[in-house]
Amino acid sequence: MSEETREVIVVGGGVAGLTAGIFTARAGLDTLVVDHGESILRRNAHLENFPGFPAGVNSRLFADMLEAQASRNGCDRIESAVTGVHEADGGFDVTLDDGETLSADRVVAASWADESYLSALDVSVRSAGSKAFLQPDPDGRTDVDGLYAAGRLAEQYHQAIVAAGHGARVGITLVQDSDTPFYHDWVAPEGYFTDRGREVPPGCEEIDETERRARERESMAAMQEYFSEPHPDEPTPHPSLADDE
Ligand SMILES: Cc1cc2nc3c(=O)[nH]c(=O)nc-3n(C[C@H](O)[C@H](O)[C@H](O)COP(=O)(O)OP(=O)(O)OC[C@H]3O[C@@H](n4cnc5c(N)ncnc54)[C@H](O)[C@@H]3O)c2cc1C
Repeated sequence: MSEETREVIVVGGGVAGLTAGIFTARAGLDTLVVDHGESILRRNAHLENFPGFPAGVNSRLFADMLEAQASRNGCDRIESAVTGVHEADGGFDVTLDDGETLSADRVVAASWADESYLSALDVSVRSAGSKAFLQPDPDGRTDVDGLYAAGRLAEQYHQAIVAAGHGARVGITLVQDSDTPFYHDWVAPEGYFTDRGREVPPGCEEIDETERRARERESMAAMQEYFSEPHPDEPTPHPSLADDE
């Protein structure tokens, strides 16, 4: 059993899980993403409907950038499969496939397409053929206090932007439920609040012109590097077509 109790464990490091983790980590919650396998988005040939990319983007590059963004914002990540989640001491024990057990105050299930590790909890699941969907409220809260569901597993539309948006919504809901002081996750120019006699609200930041330009330059350099070469990986084939060797 791990000594450390995380404030948030996110199961699944795909589009929804990493986005939820970005928001909880940026709000100051100690967040760990546990991911096994890879986002189904890596099977896509070319991602053309995610806003902000006029000519589309290689989906594997997009997934890499999302992982980097989560890490940069303080979200820890380990590669492991979650095999069980149990209620314990007002929070949860999260068991990994190597037998290790982690502790968390809150858990986000963002693990399309595996909900089997939740079988010990009394959580609503809708089965549809070989698929199973959790049935949270629109903000991602399930019937189990402290357990949230995000992305396709929560029966959201099967689109990356929807998974990202839902992950963000669930992450912010969790922050609100945790009683962390929070207004909006905004970066505003210096004076936006304070020149009107307001304190900078919790979750917001004011940055001056020097800092704004420094961040812009850093983002330009990062994007130039990401987009300097074609991505080396091919689309991941459907498991039924994958070579067994
Ligand atoms: C061929 C193909 C093309 C697509 N093209 C597009 C497109 O053009 N545009 C678009 O918007 N969408 C597209 N999609 C859909 C898009 O990829 C999904 O809607 C989106 O990735 C769902 O996000 P998610 O976070 O819910 O799931 P995922 O992104 O799949 O993330 C789930 C993560 O959970 C992990 N996981 C599962 N079980 C466990 C466990 N027990 N423990 C730990 N981790 C676990 C998985 O390995 C994965 O990393 C496409 C999908 C496919 C298959």
